Amino acid sequence: MDKIKLSEEFVEFQLLREDDIPKQILEKGTVKVDTIDETGYHRMDVSQPWRGLLKENIEKYLQRLENGLKETDPNNYSVYTGSSGIALLYYHLSSTTFCQNTSEQQQLLSKALDVLESNLDKVKGKRLTFLCGDAGVYALSAVLYSKHGDMKKCEKCVEKLCAMCESVVSDPSLPDEILYGRAGFLYSLLFIQTHLGKEKVSDAIIEQVVTAILKSGLSLSRKERSRSALMYVWHDKHYVGAAHGIVGILYMLLQVYPSSPVVTQHITEIQNTIDYLLTKQFSSGNFPSSLENESDRLIHWCHGAPGAVFLMLKAYQVFEERRYLDVAISCGNVVWKRGLLRKGYGICHGVSGNAYTFLALYKQTGDQVDLHRAFKFAEWTFSYGEHNCRTPDTPYSLFEGLAGTIYFWSDLFEPQKSRFPAFEM
Ligand SMILES: [Zn+2]
Repeated sequence: MDKIKLSEEFVEFQLLREDDIPKQILEKGTVKVDTIDETGYHRMDVSQPWRGLLKENIEKYLQRLENGLKETDPNNYSVYTGSSGIALLYYHLSSTTFCQNTSEQQQLLSKALDVLESNLDKVKGKRLTFLCGDAGVYALSAVLYSKHGDMKKCEKCVEKLCAMCESVVSDPSLPDEILYGRAGFLYSLLFIQTHLGKEKVSDAIIEQVVTAILKSGLSLSRKERSRSALMYVWHDKHYVGAAHGIVGILYMLLQVYPSSPVVTQHITEIQNTIDYLLTKQFSSGNFPSSLENESDRLIHWCHGAPGAVFLMLKAYQVFEERRYLDVAISCGNVVWKRGLLRKGYGICHGVSGNAYTFLALYKQTGDQVDLHRAFKFAEWTFSYGEHNCRTPDTPYSLFEGLAGTIYFWSDLFEPQKSRFPAFEM
């Protein structure tokens, strides 16, 4: 039974054998090694034919996206499946070399703000995460207003976002995960700091949120007598992955290490929890979707190795222990083997999201094999809709649909600067 499910889940990439990779890079010119950067790594410039392919596909599919958006639900304003995700795509495109001049940049920034302004009328400061809630609309609008020089409206959005903190930390019914919980609110605050400067959000607010997340994890661990120092649940399940689970929560906590005193104070518990997760890794290199589920089946950002890789690389940077990098590399290998999915081309549970595994590894190691893998996955996604994959519920959205794939392609112009959207800092 499991075997049937497994073959449904992923497509074997038969044509690409590991030993062909260096030859393919040299002969097909995916990338060219031309300089050694300040860290001692070979810096690869994306070759001209690839740049052309990326640009051509982005232009073609942006057209398709804009036609498709006319038929989407106007009331869905989330970053995850709604219109704010499209605004995030426009904002991102404006910062990449897809734009050839400042007028193209301005055009995209204006389009992004138009979408967000219509969403600001709908939000009530209730749903609290960047991906699925009002916090995403406020955080993105603050950044976009600032880009347009309207600092008054920018400040207003930051204020509204920060005002949500009280219920985030005091409501005991809230989860801690990224999609609907406290770690997803924390991302919104960090998004503002990254794009507008650290002073825009006070350290005191960040401290309150991380304290609530740590408190919740310590208390559940104690209650369940867990071997892991921190423990989290969502809908009564101990999810492991980036979207609903421990991986996403710990990854977000480590973003404020060592600047946050409370995270620094609990760094041993965080490391202990990561080490506990390592004991759950499958021999394939993949991670389970939850502690309750022992089948090695799901392999996408929301569940499995493609999300875990980010935490492992962060752990390697923080704790400087080689074993975390080795786990990250094993995540990359299993994603290469099984990462082309029948679920389609998306960011959350699709091929574009999986390709970010290679980009994350490439940024850490400078290994050309990882970059090559990212480009081979991109090549597969260029034949969008031609692999008999399932059509997602929101086919044009950022996290399930076409917008996410376009976002991924635009990150390939400068792989060193790539970031998994709405998650990677
Ligand atoms: Zn997903």
